[in-house]
Amino acid sequence: MPGMTRRAGLVTAALLSTMAAAGIAQGGRQGRGDRQPDAPLPNIREYKPTSTLVVPEHLVPRAKFPVVDFHGHPPPLTTPDAVDRVVSAMDPLNLRIMVVTGNPGRISREQMRQDLEVLSASKHKDRFAVFANIDFRNVGPGFGKTTAEQLEADVKAGAVGLGEIMKDFGLTARKADGTRLKLDDPELDPIWLTAARLNIPVMLHVGDPAPFWNTFDYSNERYLEMALFPNRRCPPDRCPPFEELMAERDRLFKKHPKTKFVAAHFGWHANDLGRLAKMFDQMPNLYVETGAVLYEFGRQPRFAHDFFVKYQDRLMFGKDTFAPEEYPYFWRTFETADEYFDYYRDYHAFWKLNGLALPDLVLRKLYFENALKLIPGLPRAAFPK
Ligand SMILES: [Zn+2]
Repeated sequence: MPGMTRRAGLVTAALLSTMAAAGIAQGGRQGRGDRQPDAPLPNIREYKPTSTLVVPEHLVPRAKFPVVDFHGHPPPLTTPDAVDRVVSAMDPLNLRIMVVTGNPGRISREQMRQDLEVLSASKHKDRFAVFANIDFRNVGPGFGKTTAEQLEADVKAGAVGLGEIMKDFGLTARKADGTRLKLDDPELDPIWLTAARLNIPVMLHVGDPAPFWNTFDYSNERYLEMALFPNRRCPPDRCPPFEELMAERDRLFKKHPKTKFVAAHFGWHANDLGRLAKMFDQMPNLYVETGAVLYEFGRQPRFAHDFFVKYQDRLMFGKDTFAPEEYPYFWRTFETADEYFDYYRDYHAFWKLNGLALPDLVLRKLYFENALKLIPGLPRAAFPK
């Protein structure tokens, strides 16, 4: 090293090797494993220290611009009253349009048709957009063609997109011969081609966060969640490998370049934005939405900021679970430069959030402009020019 004495160089080398042994050179952590505590230690759910950090706070109860929630699961819109209740929860948040992407557990064409019917008679019909869905329970020869015809009929009836196609497609859905239905199975091609012809987006939730596939031990970031929800664990005897699913997904996206695909939950790559950047570069027909992955952005505010700026035309706001009190965490993370504030769900992430302070131009695209471009016929009147 130029400018360094030989002696200093030796000391540095010795220090470096000690640090490397402790894992510090790689950014690891050094414990005091030999010391015994003289007070009881909390378990993972009990340790919730109150932060003593004092920094400026900017709570954002209402989004800066009107928002389209691209990944909405509102309560079933079965009556005008039910619609009113959802709208009165949306208004204070500045949520202008909720895209109804199905009700997990009761996704059916009947429910979608019912939502459309109730909305068409509602004074709030311009506040919602409804997506069609697919029932993957009886996949046999001809399934793709029949389903494509159903999709076309659903779009005629008022649906403006397809999805959220849930994770059972890929994880558990089977073909008539008992084999797993692969995401890029040619049987399904007529569906994706029809979506392209009708110019509607297709939103897919593929797989789950990668840690669900990793060893279930104390080194796993999602240990608490996997302990609380055992069915989210993905051991090899229950799930296809994570990378196999992702490869099928990417082949599907590339095989149908005219179909606009929205990978729900940032494609589960919000913890590896470099990977998602490569996908964006290779697949001009790919978009993502932010549902349920806020904790990932909030722990890498600078890298995520730059990613959001670079790929500003490919990102949509989406929330997933309908919990009105949780939306402001998204607004604060996207809009402010606040530091080290709480996330709303402890089993997703045990860390704090930091704001990305996105510029207005990017916020507008994230909140509404990209969704308005992607979904045909969304009413634009309520959005700024
Ligand atoms: Zn969802």
